[in-house]
Amino acid sequence: MADQAFVTLATNDSYAKGAMVLGRSLRSHKTSRKLAVLIGPHVSEPFRAVLDKIFDEVRLVDVLDSEDTAHLTMMERPDLGVTLTKLHCWTLTHYSKCVFMDADTMVLTNVDELFDREELSAAPDPGWPDCFNSGVFVFRPSNETYGKLLRYCSEHGSFDGGDQGVLNGFFSNWATADISKHLPFLYNLSSIAIYSYLPAFKQYGANAKVVHFLGKMKPWSYTYDTRAKQVKGDTQEAATHPGYLLRWWEIFSTAVVPMLAEQHGDRHFHSGCVVGELEVGMSQLQASDPEPPALSSEERKQRWEQGQADYMGMDSFENIQKKLDTFLK
Ligand code: UDP
Ligand code: MN
Repeated sequence: MADQAFVTLATNDSYAKGAMVLGRSLRSHKTSRKLAVLIGPHVSEPFRAVLDKIFDEVRLVDVLDSEDTAHLTMMERPDLGVTLTKLHCWTLTHYSKCVFMDADTMVLTNVDELFDREELSAAPDPGWPDCFNSGVFVFRPSNETYGKLLRYCSEHGSFDGGDQGVLNGFFSNWATADISKHLPFLYNLSSIAIYSYLPAFKQYGANAKVVHFLGKMKPWSYTYDTRAKQVKGDTQEAATHPGYLLRWWEIFSTAVVPMLAEQHGDRHFHSGCVVGELEVGMSQLQASDPEPPALSSEERKQRWEQGQADYMGMDSFENIQKKLDTFLK
């Protein structure tokens, strides 16, 4: 399976944090496929070094620098910067098939079965289900398709300003042509769906396979109290991601922050980890081990892998619903 890969994209250090957690989540669920990340020139050196450790391939894509048609398209459509960078994933022709995943996604289980699907397979967008959401999709790298996509881009632009508009315009028969290209919603579960159809989430949410932190607030926009094991910030928003946001921060604070700290040496970097009001450094992170939780993190992880995370305890549905009720009032 060396010729198949999960692919993500990070044009800056913030999205690189997301890519790191995604990569770790794929590894911890023992994917048999390669992991590749496309990065932009603004990702800093220490962040690249950590991406290098998690991913099999870190590829720098600089659309402005490139000699190809992307450069020309970019000149005509400067608004489509990140979009064009994402389309670069079609140039990874040393792979026969790939699954693209946004840097703000995280897997809760092994999802290698996605490689049984064909281009272009994706899950419905929660806002307009006749469009697919471009946060998770199966594709076949091909320079020919890449060229056609760029041509489409320069001629038609993007109806929503991003890659999702371009891709839905290009793969325009997705909604009607072939049901096998409709991924179950569980492969791209976003918070918006949780509160727009709560009973469905209650019924099916435990089977979620991929969480997508779609929208303005990303996991790294919050801070995380490592001692209290709580996400801080706009808790109304946080409440719509039940245990998922906590899970993201658990991976980030325990697996990613130590790697970033190692790369930064004595230099400060923004970990987003706090104890109380104070941002904590690496030494404090290690020293602040609180009284052991009722479940070891390994046990918790196993539960997550079985899709049973937190639903019985602090993230019981009653608790989520209470928070949502106050939110919706
Ligand atoms: N992205 C990036 N840098 C940016 C914006 C986006 O690298 O400044 C990449 C990243 O992989 C991200 C994807 O493009 O997950 C899509 O953007 P985003 O997830 O923010 O959009 P949403 O899913 O919220 O619509
Ligand atoms: Mn996204």
